[in-house]
Amino acid sequence: MNNRCSHVTHGLDISPGGHMKPCCIIDSNKFPKISIRNHTIEQYRKHPAVLDLNKRLEAGERPSACDTCWKTEDANLPSQRQIENARHYAGTRISLAIGNICNYRCRICGPDSSTRLIKEWKTIFGEEQGIQDWYKDIKIWNNLLDNVPNLNYLQIVGGEPFLLEIDQHIELLEKCISSGAAQNMVLHYITNGSVRPTEKLLSLMDQFKSIDMTFSMDGIEEQFEYNRKGGNWQTFQSNLFFMRDRNAPNQVNSINLTVSVFTVFYLEKILTWCKQNNLQQPFLNKIVGQPHYNIGVLPKQVRQTIKQKWNRSSHFNLRKATSWLDEDNSDLFLKFKNITRAHDQYRRESFADTFPELHQAIQQSAS
Ligand code: SF4
Repeated sequence: MNNRCSHVTHGLDISPGGHMKPCCIIDSNKFPKISIRNHTIEQYRKHPAVLDLNKRLEAGERPSACDTCWKTEDANLPSQRQIENARHYAGTRISLAIGNICNYRCRICGPDSSTRLIKEWKTIFGEEQGIQDWYKDIKIWNNLLDNVPNLNYLQIVGGEPFLLEIDQHIELLEKCISSGAAQNMVLHYITNGSVRPTEKLLSLMDQFKSIDMTFSMDGIEEQFEYNRKGGNWQTFQSNLFFMRDRNAPNQVNSINLTVSVFTVFYLEKILTWCKQNNLQQPFLNKIVGQPHYNIGVLPKQVRQTIKQKWNRSSHFNLRKATSWLDEDNSDLFLKFKNITRAHDQYRRESFADTFPELHQAIQQSAS
C-alpha cells in the first residue's frame, strides 16, 4: 500500500507569515516551521522533514501530521491527497498568500491571516501579531519568480488577494505570461468576494490556460455577515453573480464552505440557496486548525438532530457526510462558548440571536 501525496512531491504552500509546507491542512504542530525568510524554495524541497514525510507516505504509513486526510478518507470522502493525486499536474504547484492583508474579521480566522484581527486578538487574548510583508524582500520575491517557469498551478489565497493589486501581484502574473508558463497553468484564486478584480487583473487572467475562481462563503445573509465580519452580503452576492455571468471561456467558479459550529446547522439552507441561484454545489471543508470550532464540540443530541436532517436531505453531499457528526470533541464545548462570547462582546453581536434554531437545540440538550 502506498499513500503517496503529490502535495509533498510537487506542491508548496506558502502561508501569510511565509512558512513553507506541503499543503494548507497539514498539522502545523507536527511539521517544522520552514520560513521563506531564511530558506529558498529549493532548500525547502530538499529539507529533511519534506523528504522524510515523502518516504513515510511512499512506504504506506499514515503520519499523524496528515490526520485530516486520513479522517476524510476513513469517512469515505475524497481527501486533499486523493484530489491532488487525481489532478496529475506534470510540473509543480504553489499556493501563495501574499502576506495577511485582509478586510474581513472572520470568526474562524486569526491575525496570522487577517490584519483586521490584530487589534481584536490583542484585546481578547493579549497576543501580539503584526503585518506580514515578507514579500517586499526583493531576494525572496525573486526566488519565487525564478520558480514560475516550472509551475503549472498557482493558487493565490488570502488575506484577500484582490485587495492586493500591488506591484508584486501584477509582476507575478506578468512573469507567468512572459515565461510562457501561463499557457499551461491553472491560476486559482480564493477570494472572500468583497472586491471585484480590476479590468487590468481580469485581462491578465484571461491569458492563463484556466482560471479557477473560488469564493469562500460561510453562510448566507445575516449569518454570512456574522461569520465573515466586515463582509456585506449584498456586495458578496453581486461579485459572485458577476463572476458566474462573466463569459470568460477559461474560467470556472466554485464555492468553498467551511463546515464549523457556525455553519453545520444551516448547510441544507445554504446548499439550496446555491442550487436556486445556478451556482455549483460548494466544496464542504471541515474546519482545521481551530478545534474549538469543530462540529464535534456540539452536544451529542444536537449532532444527532443534524444527522437526522442530513439523512433526509436532498443534497447528496450531506447524506454522504453524516459520519462527520460522529466525531466527539464535546470537551471543547466550554472553550467554544467562552471564546464566542468574548468575540460577541467585543463586536457587540449575539450568537443566540444570529443562530436561534441552533441556540435552542443546544439549550434543549442541556435541559
Ligand atoms: S495533509 Fe494530506 S494533502 Fe497534506 S501533505 Fe498530508 S497527505 Fe498530503
